[in-house]
Order: sequence, then C-alpha cells, then structure tokens
Amino acid sequence: MPLRTSWSEDNCPIARAADVLGDPWSLLVLREVFMGNNRFDGMKKELRVADNVLSERLRRLVGAGLLIAEPYSAGKRPRNEYLLTAAGTDALPVLHALTVWAQKHTGSPSGKSLRIICTTCGTESASGAWCQTCGAELTAATTAWDHPKSSENLIELAKAGTSHSPATDA
Ligand SMILES: [Zn+2]
Repeated sequence: MPLRTSWSEDNCPIARAADVLGDPWSLLVLREVFMGNNRFDGMKKELRVADNVLSERLRRLVGAGLLIAEPYSAGKRPRNEYLLTAAGTDALPVLHALTVWAQKHTGSPSGKSLRIICTTCGTESASGAWCQTCGAELTAATTAWDHPKSSENLIELAKAGTSHSPATDA
C-alpha cells in the first residue's frame, strides 16, 4: 500500500487524530477489541479482511500506542492478543460519536442498531459521551453495547490492559 501524507506532526489535533484513527480498518479493529475479539484469527474472521491488511493495521495501532500485543500460547507457536492501552480506551467516545452520527444520517439494512447502554443506571444513551439519564461519563468501564453483530444481549466492553473479556474464545 502506498504511504499517504502523514499528519502526525500537524498542529491541528483533528489532523493528528485522523492520522491514527482515520482509517476504516483501524476503527473496526478497535471495535472488535472493545467487544473482546482481540486475537488475529477472530478479528480476521469477523472483519473478513486479508492477513496483510489486518497485520498492518494492528502494527500501526500498536505503534501509535493504542494497543499492546500480549503473547499467549496456542498450540505450537506463541501468538498475540491485543489489549487496549489507556490511549486506546480513550478512543471509545470516537466510536460512539461515529455511532450517533451514523444513526442520524445513514440507514441500517436490518433496522437494528448499536445501542449505547450506561451501566451505571442501565438506560440507553443517545449521546456517546455522557449518560443523559444519570450524567455518568460513558467510558469502557461504564458502558455496554447492544450490538447488532452480537448474539449477546449486552456486551461488556474491554478495558485498558484486560486480557479476557466475556466474548473472547479460549
Ligand atoms: Zn446512566
């Protein structure tokens, strides 16, 4: 893939954030990790993405300090699972802002959507940043998703540095 212009040194924070997050695969990889799908094979299956594309995005997210690669033993060779750092966890409001925007301006073919649930009070929030009922900040620790791609009712989100969330296969 040809390298595009880098905005990593730009004075505008939107440009610097776009440099790290302004890529569909990177955002979808973060979505998967938040949902507990944090191993290469699981992400590849869910995203239906080519190996080299997924490897490159994981490498980039690790390099930018949003994910850390943690080796685990599976069969013959050690493999990595990917954990959110504090910087990765702080990208949750970005995913929520995209969700709120998409719900307002795009259509879901199935009619289903991602519901952002405040786990502090148990209500759905139309904002991705703060619970409109109880005022709690919506972080990975205080938010669950009712996601159209998951059969689970509510997905507890992965937090910084936690290696196993309920949705992760052994
Ligand atoms: Zn609440």
